[in-house]
Amino acid sequence: MSNRLLFGLVAIVAFAAAICGVVIGRAYLIQPQPVESELHGLLHEELKLDHQQQSKLAEIERQFAIRKQALELELRSDNARLADAIEIEHGYGPQVNAAVDRSHVAMGQLQKVTLEHIFAMRGVLRPDQTARFDEAVVKALTAKER
Ligand SMILES: [Zn+2]
Repeated sequence: MSNRLLFGLVAIVAFAAAICGVVIGRAYLIQPQPVESELHGLLHEELKLDHQQQSKLAEIERQFAIRKQALELELRSDNARLADAIEIEHGYGPQVNAAVDRSHVAMGQLQKVTLEHIFAMRGVLRPDQTARFDEAVVKALTAKER
């Protein structure tokens, strides 16, 4: 193999690894909670919460924000670990595999915490408000594009 060909191959592999890094990074970095924020819009704008509901909800939100922030920090360091592994292995090697597996822990945790939060928010609602809320949850979870 000529040096030139070898150099070309290395460049292609490096380029591919860089693209993978961006794509994987995007996939993992995108973690807004669209379901959660849609529900907030509903709670605050359409359901006409009374004062007591609003203060309960504020406390629920405060607790959720703390847990969510901790998990997002964990996800961010998972992302950094994944980026390092990609840089080292330039492909789908054992370190990349391990970093991906590891990131699923915090991701799954974030999902659980978000669902718990959704049910905690629902717990504040009056019976005449829950139907509208449930409808919005189902709609948000099944929507393909937002
Ligand atoms: Zn909330």
